[in-house]
Amino acid sequence: MALHQGSCHCGAVRFEVEAEIDHVRECDCSICIRRGALNFRVAREALRILTPLDAMTVYRWGSMTAEDYFCRKCGIMPFRKPGGLTTSERAAGLPEFDGWAINVRCIEGLDLASLPRAKIEGSRL
Ligand SMILES: [Zn+2]
Repeated sequence: MALHQGSCHCGAVRFEVEAEIDHVRECDCSICIRRGALNFRVAREALRILTPLDAMTVYRWGSMTAEDYFCRKCGIMPFRKPGGLTTSERAAGLPEFDGWAINVRCIEGLDLASLPRAKIEGSRL
């Protein structure tokens, strides 16, 4: 497993994530499409948040099950806790997910252009 370093824009929020990032998720839900985030999901224990969570604010919307964590200072969202499965994921028999979605744009040194993009139809949830 590779250990990646990440941060928000201003550096108030820093994190480490242990993952083999071999693709990114490009979601078309109403918030992801505005943000332009590319996500990669990891298990709960793979993310180490190196910043007190009171440096962050949490945004909940819609079903109120997902939690988007933002830097209070610069407004960047380095990671989020996803809500329920998409319809197609549930149909494919995937287990419920209780880990994190990392905004890979906040990770240092990734070649985003080389990573395959999985299109996620979050807008159909
Ligand atoms: Zn910041």
